[in-house]
Amino acid sequence: MPRWRNADTALPATISGQPRALTDAYGRVATDLRVSLTDRCNLRCSYCMPAEGLEWLPAAEVLSDAEILRLVGIGVRMLGITTVRLTGGEPLLRKNLEALVAGLAKLHPRPSLALTTNGIGLAKRADALAAAGLNRINISLDTLDPTTFSRLARRPRLPDVLAGVAAARQAGLEPVKINTVLMRGINDHEAYDLLCWAMEENVQLRFIEQMPLDAQHAWQRSEMVTADEIRAWLSEHVRLVEDPDQVISRGSAPAELFRVAGTDYSVGIIAAVSKPFCGSCDRVRLTSDGQLRNCLFSRAESDLRTPLRAGASDDELADQWVVAVAGKRPGHGINDPSFLQPERPMSAIGG
Ligand code: SAM
Repeated sequence: MPRWRNADTALPATISGQPRALTDAYGRVATDLRVSLTDRCNLRCSYCMPAEGLEWLPAAEVLSDAEILRLVGIGVRMLGITTVRLTGGEPLLRKNLEALVAGLAKLHPRPSLALTTNGIGLAKRADALAAAGLNRINISLDTLDPTTFSRLARRPRLPDVLAGVAAARQAGLEPVKINTVLMRGINDHEAYDLLCWAMEENVQLRFIEQMPLDAQHAWQRSEMVTADEIRAWLSEHVRLVEDPDQVISRGSAPAELFRVAGTDYSVGIIAAVSKPFCGSCDRVRLTSDGQLRNCLFSRAESDLRTPLRAGASDDELADQWVVAVAGKRPGHGINDPSFLQPERPMSAIGG
């Protein structure tokens, strides 16, 4: 069993009679479900996992398509889930992803469907994914330099990722968002180059602060490139002003948007560590082995797979889901002295 598995965290099975909304004690309502389709990945980004990879989940532990469709169906039909983001690991490694997307698109009410991917292989699949019902896509891209890409991701796949970005746009998977993590001394000098490229390509760039979710537990606050630094570096080249769409409310958007003055382009910075936005979090996560997590940084999980495979009813599974979200803590706690990184790494949670 991988060392991050925590067998005794299942919550009580039912609380029949409770109203079914995914509400927590702080008034937040979860409507955005992140579903990890696999813990496997074909890159080895140094801020995510070690060069040798990880011990992958055995196939028997991973939810089947039918199990995912059933659980997501409960989420949209009984619990108010409106957005489903497929992630991983690398979700394009999941066999028959197009069929799974098509199945999700048939759910009632139909959720908005998004995918977070490293883009490898997307060039050949973007059209089919869009035809299956995928609405939006986030593609991870940390550098435009092939040598830096090979160093950071430990695989020489930059051309595949760029081809994936082009194909996503051509397939109409708008808006194409680009997730970028800057690492000090590796790609931190590329912030402005990436912005110029994103403006040229008409894709929405989002810088994400590096979070303590790497499998190696090597994250160091002092090494992390902060949101303020990124903003300052960009401001050496362009004037950034408040994004007009966020003047009234940022809603639950993790990214703070900055308009590049004189253009209609906005760049996002996700200050997950330095300026947490937990107060407006509307997310809940389902891992590829069927564990519900009410926070990326949670150290407890609620096992849905065991009751699912033991014949639990939709009502029982929905009730367990309600309990799991009700216990969500007010914040991720990264900045508390007592913070402990979750055992399960980002690649096995689903980012
Ligand atoms: N393989 C897919 C991809 O590359 O987008 C989906 C999974 S990946 C874990 C999702 C996102 O998490 C990527 O944008 C990746 O850069 C980001 N990520 C991974 N580890 C991270 C960390 N420690 N801090 C911040 N972002 C991280």
